[in-house]
Amino acid sequence: QVQPQSAYDVIVVGSGAGAMAAAVVAADQGLSVLVVEKSDKYGGTSAISGGGIWIPNNHYFAEKGGADSFDKAFTYLKAAAGDKVDEARLRAYLEYAPRMIHYLETRSRVRYAVADKYPDYYQHLPGSLPGGRSLDPELFDTSLLGDEYEHMRKPSPTTLLMGRIAWTARHAHKAMSREFGWRLMLLGLMLRYKLDFKGRRKGKMDRRAALGASLIAALRRSLMDRKVPLWLNTEFRELVVEDGRVTGIEVLQGGRKLTLQARRGVIFGCGGFEQNQALREKYLPQPTRADWSATPPGNNTGAALEAAQAIGAATDLMDWAWWAPTIKVPGEEKPRGIFAERAFPGAIVVNGHGKRFVNEAAPYLEFVDAMYREHQKDSQSIPAWVIFDARFRFNYAMGPLMPAQVMPDSRLRKEWLNSVYWKADSLDGLARQIGVDPAGLDATVKRVNEFARTGVDSDFARGGNVFDRYYGDSNVKPNPCLAPLTKGPYYAMRLDAGDIGTKGGLLTDANAQVLHENGQPIPGLYAIGNTSASVMGTSYPGAGGTLGPAMTFGYIAARHIAASL
Ligand code: FAD
Repeated sequence: QVQPQSAYDVIVVGSGAGAMAAAVVAADQGLSVLVVEKSDKYGGTSAISGGGIWIPNNHYFAEKGGADSFDKAFTYLKAAAGDKVDEARLRAYLEYAPRMIHYLETRSRVRYAVADKYPDYYQHLPGSLPGGRSLDPELFDTSLLGDEYEHMRKPSPTTLLMGRIAWTARHAHKAMSREFGWRLMLLGLMLRYKLDFKGRRKGKMDRRAALGASLIAALRRSLMDRKVPLWLNTEFRELVVEDGRVTGIEVLQGGRKLTLQARRGVIFGCGGFEQNQALREKYLPQPTRADWSATPPGNNTGAALEAAQAIGAATDLMDWAWWAPTIKVPGEEKPRGIFAERAFPGAIVVNGHGKRFVNEAAPYLEFVDAMYREHQKDSQSIPAWVIFDARFRFNYAMGPLMPAQVMPDSRLRKEWLNSVYWKADSLDGLARQIGVDPAGLDATVKRVNEFARTGVDSDFARGGNVFDRYYGDSNVKPNPCLAPLTKGPYYAMRLDAGDIGTKGGLLTDANAQVLHENGQPIPGLYAIGNTSASVMGTSYPGAGGTLGPAMTFGYIAARHIAASL
């Protein structure tokens, strides 16, 4: 018989958005809750993310007159996820996601708004919408966290306007696509920042958090309101199982092993295994590297996955990640995801033959999936290379390179040349520097330049749907995602086959209970977020497709535990 040092009704492992949402809901159900987090910072990848959540049929869109329905969303999700995912889970997601966000909006500090122009990613599938299902966090005043703010994982300043001013994804999109009124909007943001005298007395950083940081700050404050303890530096190591039921966990804290009792249930919300090189090599397509992942180094190493497998848990989708191409920048702890820039007109992506192999504006998951598929043929597509000319460089950002009109080459860090970007007066010279076939690149550019003139990419249909055009430049005609590459100097940047977390994990049912290989739920054990195999199958149906399910199944797990008292 194990002697526990502490006992709670529910122990939540991990402190990302799904974990904290689960803890909030469990506490509201009258359960005693403990959150344990292995690192010295709470928030996980969720804190450095965009914080977007994909919630079909949500009340924000409905209040603005938007038309969506369970059936429409089901048609779409079923088409995207295919037959790989149990329909009961798909239905549970679509039924509870809108309830989850309505609950948090009315009962906690979490605040969202609808990004009504952000299209679903697969516009060709039935039931897709051109906007209204992705939600974007409102700004959150971090002074409400007091000293607890110090312990939050902070996003890179590069996600802030001018490295210090908080802005939402809706603001960023308006500026990037130079929508009508974007300059005035920027001025407004800057003024509001300047006039925050209380904040300015404290320092340069905006005290408002945006994106994932806003979500995590709001959830952390909601846990403080409920006096739910969150233990940092407390690493989950083993499950405690009695008579086939999970009754607790063993953790390592300050070098000491502790046994904690979970009377009603353990919820794993502790991410996937993307930071574990050995597990990547075991499960993911090759080549693969933990340091291509845009997630916090060292956090998500798959301890929960391995512990559950050891007691017979089933897994699924283990060879999938939430893929996103990344660029490494010297001195930064993790690479940057390249989400939007691929759609800007005038940049193309080629493999070692100098050939395009995918619609550059495709969703990030499909983009890296295409890198792997192409690489299988003759090992020429990982890494891939994004190529652009001086006109692109002047007007648009690409990863860490801000547009030359605000940051000319002379102001870029010297060590970036030939490590973050390559530059040459001619395409031929550029191709030789990066080891790409010069004739292939020349032919590709000539072909793309013709597509730019006609507006039709007859190879990959770039700019052919409303999702591609979301990040296009509406001032560029006839196709906002296509412009010719004609003006030297020319630039190249290396794209790795990165990710923003793994997608496979513990197989769960519609209640978020972990399933045994025999198909039965393991009593007392729940998994959400990237610890579980995604409810989206191998798809990424819209912005917020990872955090939406993490929070929704956190909500479901907490209520299921409470209901089974
Ligand atoms: P995490 O948020 O990473 O939380 C897991 C936590 O568990 C970590 O704090 C970790 O330290 C802790 N942990 C791990 N192992 C243990 C252990 N043994 N014991 C105790 N604690 C442990 N997704 C979206 O849906 N919308 C977006 O807008 C979005 N934008 C993104 C932007 C970027 C730049 C990146 C990198 C990702 C983005 N994502 C987005 C992806 C999303 O952030 C992740 O998929 C999501 O955060 C995963 O949530 P999680 O709760 O599973 O893991």
